[in-house]
Formats: sequence, structure tokens, C-alpha cells
Amino acid sequence: MTYDIIIVGAGPAGLTAAIYARRASKSVLVLEAKAYGGQIINTPDIENYPVEAHISGFEFATKLYEQTVALGAEIKLEKVTEVKDGEAAKTVVTTKGEYTCRAVILATGSENRKLGVDGEDALVGRGISYCATCDGAFYRKKTVAVVGGGNTALEDALYLADLAEKVYLIHRRDSFRGEDATVERLKAKGNVEFVLNSNVTKLNAGKRLESVEVTDKAGDVKTLVVNGLFVAVGRIPENQNFAQLIDLDGAGYAVSGEDCITKLPWIFVAGDNRTKNVRQLVTATADGAVAATAAVKYLNEQA
Ligand code: NAP
Repeated sequence: MTYDIIIVGAGPAGLTAAIYARRASKSVLVLEAKAYGGQIINTPDIENYPVEAHISGFEFATKLYEQTVALGAEIKLEKVTEVKDGEAAKTVVTTKGEYTCRAVILATGSENRKLGVDGEDALVGRGISYCATCDGAFYRKKTVAVVGGGNTALEDALYLADLAEKVYLIHRRDSFRGEDATVERLKAKGNVEFVLNSNVTKLNAGKRLESVEVTDKAGDVKTLVVNGLFVAVGRIPENQNFAQLIDLDGAGYAVSGEDCITKLPWIFVAGDNRTKNVRQLVTATADGAVAATAAVKYLNEQA
């Protein structure tokens, strides 16, 4: 069958787009490469989404997934490798096969940015982690460091402060990109030490990570003895497979306005993979609604 809309990505943006498209009676296939829910499943406690004062990212994603399936969207775990234009229909190619549709919404989100320090890859799972909620429990009563200054790093540090004996928060500047309220809560914790104006420059390891060396702006090097290092230095948009079709900015984000429309009338973008000022859960779900509404309008106009 030819779907009305294929949505690439089953994070908050993609699943919300599916809800809106299904409620407009369009046939919908959602294709996801990794896991339903996107990066929000790694957030231990969401405190800034309207109505729910506290909800875990996993619970949020599960509820969203269930709501989407109940509305009749088809969801498959397949990685999309290519999208091809066509007169009669557009083709979405995955690692398992091909599907046809009339409109595409790219809600691919982003992947972890690596720190880029020697030995990082080899130590993943042996002291280096990109997910505090996934791996934090391994560091109960131990010493860990979090590197980064955005909301992810701040929230990871907060989460780990309740598990670990000690948490270093390493950030390359002295002011944070993340929310002030979370910084204040971290300052109130007795076991969080801020290591500011510093970069991680070396990882020391035997079988596992044993310590990290940080270098401050004056060039002074300090060794922090840690059992784990949680890397939270941002994300890279996952648009590489669509670069031939739509415009990407210098950082790889899909160029679009708040209308979620790209230069091609049948491709829409939603969520963290597009150019925007505020990348939050609430703006991702909002994008899903906007992109789906635009796609439905396009399809109705074609009909
Ligand atoms: P981010 O906001 O882009 O922050 C990345 C941080 O890593 C920045 O502080 C940056 O430093 C630092 N950094 C980047 N490259 C580095 C390097 N090579 N070495 C050391 N530090 C480096 O990323 P994020 O925290 O993953 O958040 C992504 C988006 O999701 C943001 O919009 C965030 O607000 C949102 N988010 C929202 C929630 C929520 O709503 N509850 C939770 C988590 C994330 P500089 O500041 O110096 O550039």
C-alpha cells in the first residue's frame, strides 16, 4: 500500500505527528531506527512539561507510544537509509525494505556528541556513559563526573547526586546553558563539586576508567579520581541521509521555519533535527502537531 504519510523517527515529535495525522484520518507509518521514545527516555524526571509536574522520560514515551498505536498508526523498528522523490509516490528505503507514501515527516532527532578524547570509545561501558538513567545505578556510592553545561548535564548531575557518593560537574565555561533553577538545586547538594572553565583532556584507565585529567583556562591540569564519566556535551542532528534532498545548516540541522516546511513541498521536519531556537520536549511535540497539520494540508490540496 502507499501510505499518506511516513514519519521517520518515533520520538516525541514523530509520535505526536502520527497522532495528529491519524486524527486527520491519514494512513501513517512510523519508522524508528533505535527505540520508541527518542532521547527523552533517558531523562529521569521531566519537570517542565505542562500538566505533569513530574514524569519520567520512560513513562512519558510509553504513554505517547500507546496513544499513537491506539489511534491506528503503524510503527516499525527499521532504520531509514534513503528517501526518494517520485511522480506517483515517494519511496522510503530502510535497512529491511522499501515503503511508498505521498508525504514524509522527518523527526529523526539527534545522537550523542562524543567528547573526542583519546580512549573514549574503548571505555564505553567500562566507565564512560552517555546515559545517566541507564547506567547511573552502577555507580551507587561511587565517585562520578558529568561533563557538559546544558540541561542534560545538569539533570544527569542531579540524578547522580542522589546515587553516587560524589559528583564532579565539569564544564568548559563558568556559566551554564541549562536552566538556572537546576544549577541552584545542584549547588544545594552537599556532594556536587563544580569544576568550571575546564576541559577533560585525558582519560586514565586500566581495565576500567580510573581518573580523568581536566585542564583549566590557565593550562593547569588537575586529576579527578572517578569511577565513571557521564558525557553530556550535546547532540548531533541525524539528517545525514537526507542531505541530498533538503537544505541543512552549517551544524547539520534541517532548515525550516516554525511551519516545519522544507524546500520540498512533500517533506516536513519536526523536533530536534530542525533549525530552531528552543529544543525542548514541549517544542518537539508542538513541532509534531505543526508538521502533521502542514502535511495533511498538502495532501488534501493534492487530492
Ligand atoms: P546543549 O544544550 O547543546 O549543551 C551541550 C553542552 O556541552 C554545552 O554546555 C556545551 O558547552 C558543552 N560542550 C559541547 N561540546 C563540548 C566539548 N567538546 N567539550 C566540553 N563541553 C562541550 O545539549 P544538551 O544538554 O544535550 O541539551 C540538548 C537540548 O535538549 C537542549 O535544548 C536542552 O535544553 C534540551 N533538554 C531539555 C530537557 C528538559 O526540557 N527537561 C532535558 C535535557 C535536555 P558551551 O555551553 O560552552 O557551548
